[in-house]
Amino acid sequence: MVQPGIHLRRSGSDHVAEPPGDDSLSGLGTGLDDAAGFAPLFYRGRPGGDRRILPSWTKSGSMVKKTPVLIIGAGPYGLSLGHFLHARQTPFLLVGKTMELWRNHTFDSMKLRSDYATSILHDPYRRYSFERFARVWGTSLHRWRGRLPVTVFRQYIDWCERQFPFRPEEQYVMSLQQAGPRFRARLQNGDEVVADRVVVATGIAHHLHLPPELSVHPRVIHSYHSTSIQALQNCRVLVVGAGQSAAESLAVLQNQGNQVEWYARTPPVFYSEPLNLPKPLFDLILRLPGMLHRLPPRWVHTGLNRFSATTITPDFRTALTGMKRHTLCPPVNDFDVVVAATGYRYRLEDQSYLHSSLRRKIRTYSGLPLVNQYFASSVPGLHFLGAMTEPFFGPSMKFMIGSGYAARVLSHALA
Ligand SMILES: Cc1cc2nc3c(=O)[nH]c(=O)nc-3n(C[C@H](O)[C@H](O)[C@H](O)COP(=O)(O)OP(=O)(O)OC[C@H]3O[C@@H](n4cnc5c(N)ncnc54)[C@H](O)[C@@H]3O)c2cc1C
Repeated sequence: MVQPGIHLRRSGSDHVAEPPGDDSLSGLGTGLDDAAGFAPLFYRGRPGGDRRILPSWTKSGSMVKKTPVLIIGAGPYGLSLGHFLHARQTPFLLVGKTMELWRNHTFDSMKLRSDYATSILHDPYRRYSFERFARVWGTSLHRWRGRLPVTVFRQYIDWCERQFPFRPEEQYVMSLQQAGPRFRARLQNGDEVVADRVVVATGIAHHLHLPPELSVHPRVIHSYHSTSIQALQNCRVLVVGAGQSAAESLAVLQNQGNQVEWYARTPPVFYSEPLNLPKPLFDLILRLPGMLHRLPPRWVHTGLNRFSATTITPDFRTALTGMKRHTLCPPVNDFDVVVAATGYRYRLEDQSYLHSSLRRKIRTYSGLPLVNQYFASSVPGLHFLGAMTEPFFGPSMKFMIGSGYAARVLSHALA
């Protein structure tokens, strides 16, 4: 049934629901709140996080905020943690651009690899389930049984955001250092934050991998910068990489009338999962981060390396099978643009806003911060979430599915 205030319009083969105005949302929200039995859905909090955080000003006029917890990053990990802390009434400040990867760094034609049930923002009241999203938007879950289009996922994010009980501060942390027993962060707008504890949940943006042989070209675009790639037209483009991002880049560039060539040393492996494991086993491993943390990191790391694979979802098989692939790098200067779909390498040293004096104190394993079962690093009060913790908690930390576990465990430790 179509809910009041929701308008369906046709876009390609999909029905897309247009966001209704605030009035209709409030109406819907009240009904659902009562049914679910939790706080008003559409309450809008103060920017940054908790309303109990009071600012003061420095002589130069910039604002200084003091907070018990600073969360850096507003992706699935930072946002889920924010919701769990909010439910525990732990004051916090959240700085980062809301779901930036999903809004600004994925191709519009992309489909998620994870299914809708594991691609959610987590909160203790389960208010962001796809079941509720489908109900509110008057559509059926069956539509998303296959892979979820990112356009629908972005609508889901907008829907979630309208219900957030707090608002992230939409900017970046430019530097973070220790100040006695606390931490001092400087934000993009010059404001400062003094925090007792800090959670780093900055995701993938600091870890783009660019092979040195490509950097000789004057115009190399990493596949993370999807908007720039989507804007290319009538260019000679070399796409480098053997994984999903390479396949998506090739499809997008060809559709836009570019002359595209592909360089990948190894032939494509068509498989639905990003690890070379049978799906039931992979699903099981994704659900056991706590158990994996009890194993020595060396075992988890070795296991991951053993089964890691660069795979492409089978829906690209037809398009890529007939395509000419260079197995040796062609002269890159023959191309107007090189698209580096060469993935991500996670290393603590790439977190450039961490002051070197702080970074030096963090004990590492294989270049990544060593964390205990509460995601705490060797520096008291400093925690890490997300892909950088993969060697300790397993592959779920690279995907949205791990964010619920991480938020639950860490919010308990921070409360
Ligand atoms: C192309 C692509 C497709 C993917 N597909 C899937 C999929 O289908 N399913 C799945 O589960 N996972 C997928 N992933 C993995 C994805 O990384 C995770 O799902 C998830 O987004 C990770 O969440 P995160 O919170 O750790 O980081 P991110 O989502 O990367 O968010 C990082 C946050 O940190 C903020 N930030 C960065 N630097 C700073 C700073 N200095 N100061 C303040 N804030 C900062 C950003 O603004 C952003 O808010 C995909 C990844 C890519 C690149």
